[in-house]
Amino acid sequence: MKLEDIETITVLGAGTMGHGIAEVAALADYDVRLRDINEGLVEDGYDQIVWSLNKLAEKERISEEKRDSAIENVTPVVDMEEAVEGTDVVIEAIVENMAIKKDVYSEVAEHAPEEAIFASNTSSLSITELAEATDRPDQFCGMHFFNPPIRMELVEVIRGEHTTDETMDVIVDLTEAFGKTPVRVRKDTPGFIVNRVLVPLMNEACWIVDTEAGTIAEVDSTTKYDMGLPMGAFELADQVGIDVIYHVLEYMHDVLGDAYEPAAMLEAKVENEELGKKTGKGFYDYEDGEGADVPADQVNEDIRTRLTALLANETGKLLEAEVAPIEDIDEAVMLGGRWPQGPGKLCDESGLDTLVETLETLEADTGQAIYEVSDGLREAAEAGGFYDDSEDDEAVEFENIRVEYPGNMVGHIVLDRPHQLNTVNLQMIEEFSQAVDMLEDDDEIRALLVSGAGDRAFSAGADAMGMASKANPIDAIELSREGQHAWGKLETCSMPTVAAIDGYCLGGGMELATCADMRVATERSTFGQPEFNLGLLPGWGGTQRLRHLIGESRAREIIFTADHYDAETMHEWGFVNRLVGNDDLEAEALALAEQVAAGPPLAMEYAKKAMLAGRDDTDAGLETEAFAFGHVIATEDVMEGVMKLQSDEDPEFKGK
Ligand code: NAD
Repeated sequence: MKLEDIETITVLGAGTMGHGIAEVAALADYDVRLRDINEGLVEDGYDQIVWSLNKLAEKERISEEKRDSAIENVTPVVDMEEAVEGTDVVIEAIVENMAIKKDVYSEVAEHAPEEAIFASNTSSLSITELAEATDRPDQFCGMHFFNPPIRMELVEVIRGEHTTDETMDVIVDLTEAFGKTPVRVRKDTPGFIVNRVLVPLMNEACWIVDTEAGTIAEVDSTTKYDMGLPMGAFELADQVGIDVIYHVLEYMHDVLGDAYEPAAMLEAKVENEELGKKTGKGFYDYEDGEGADVPADQVNEDIRTRLTALLANETGKLLEAEVAPIEDIDEAVMLGGRWPQGPGKLCDESGLDTLVETLETLEADTGQAIYEVSDGLREAAEAGGFYDDSEDDEAVEFENIRVEYPGNMVGHIVLDRPHQLNTVNLQMIEEFSQAVDMLEDDDEIRALLVSGAGDRAFSAGADAMGMASKANPIDAIELSREGQHAWGKLETCSMPTVAAIDGYCLGGGMELATCADMRVATERSTFGQPEFNLGLLPGWGGTQRLRHLIGESRAREIIFTADHYDAETMHEWGFVNRLVGNDDLEAEALALAEQVAAGPPLAMEYAKKAMLAGRDDTDAGLETEAFAFGHVIATEDVMEGVMKLQSDEDPEFKGK
């Protein structure tokens, strides 16, 4: 079976996950059969799909035509034979119970075509064991979506012992066709990647409180405001459901041994049926109390080290068992857990030697298997980190940017294509991203300055011709995500950042400047988001980030008119913090960067995190933006816009 052969997808189970997966498949234009055990359940699932598609259309994330066609793609079914006959792929999302799943699979195997592939959305059961309940263990794999499937980008595609390469490849391709990001899990191991990291972390949070090494408030304050995770560990447990975590952990305990012994506190919560938000009470009280009110000021360094050490150990174990390479582990946890960086990077920052020592001390003090240092971690510590720094050093040869060190703890990134008005190509995006990482790793640097070479442009935007060559939606979505991510590094960078703008600051260039903490611009500078002139839309964060600086209404004006705006207006609107004489930019921008470089680094880092954390759900917006970008890239209008770019004629757009 190849991706092109897939037309029909059967989703078994119309519950929380099943209806979401069916919606994703229907939006990707597949014929979807949604099956549950009775009319009522399957209709409920179907109604939720319709409700969600209506919401997406209302919010203009999809067109009304797209909504209608997606609704039409879904057929609710109760009869199993009808659900699976002639289908190409069966995605199973029924209750998490091995015996029930096995029963269902034997029935499915009876009626499904021989070549149909089976994929299970199980969170914690063995893919190999499930596969063995069917007549085609080789055509079976895990396809683990995250909740809610419509919003979460990650899908773990899990290889069971019998899964063939062909099966893995086609489900990876299908995941991409769904517009999601697949991460291959190369071994069928409890918790796969994301839960394998998150669940033991939550257990360790409980052990810390159980052994009085910290309080719930301290643990959550540390995870959220120091480690920068989107929620406190206990807050997350309440959200996910303490019983769900407990069951995954129990399974790990059974299969992987005593290193996964559940903490008493976790067991007690399950026994008392205080399971988190869904029961009104978990670690926090959502009915009579304030809910998860995590304090920002109870950060504790020892707790951070202990939790990070645990993360390092789990990461080491995943590497040692060859479940996935470090880049994939980091990507999965970033997407599935919404972490700002993956465990590999996070642990490398702390220094693996320190983390190994922490584990050794804990093991000596407690005698618990949890803290036994894994071979994978030892190996990485000996190599100097999960990531090989020497590779990074080799990569530090930039062609499209320059990195300068003007002193006083400022790192200066110069966009360096002056003859092309510093327009942005793919390589520049990559180099920019590497340069921010490099400067962040540099202990001598405390603030970043970004400017454009020459005196004509900060950056006149994306290299339009290069963009048009990405005229395939999948590539365009990727291009949009890469740009969003690279520019976003400036936004999430732990140091304060300043953009120094002279001349054109347009399109992708303006989107980059938007990510800086502050902007200094010369009077002659010109701003704008001219993407609509090309039939495109801002694809590197512009639809989301600009409004945070100047408000929704002005952001809309700039994007919708696609006009140029002078520096004075942009200063008045609050985009430009300081307007300076044409010859004063270098000195003024550097002075500002030096001033903030001299500020308190930690306080600044936390302030930035808090400011970002307090924004609304930009990630969802960025996802939508990337898809929209993929959607328009192959249209005639973009061809028209790009063709007319070099001529005096105005483009004529047709909406195709
Ligand atoms: P759910 O309880 O919301 O839905 C399960 C559905 O399966 C129910 O509608 C039920 O009627 C149906 N079902 C039960 N027996 C069936 C049968 N014999 N045939 C067909 N349908 C049957 O559960 P959920 O949260 O959607 O979880 C489903 C699967 O997805 C589980 O394997 C779970 O581990 C996994 N999962 C859940 C999440 C999550 O956050 N909820 C995330 C990832 C994966």
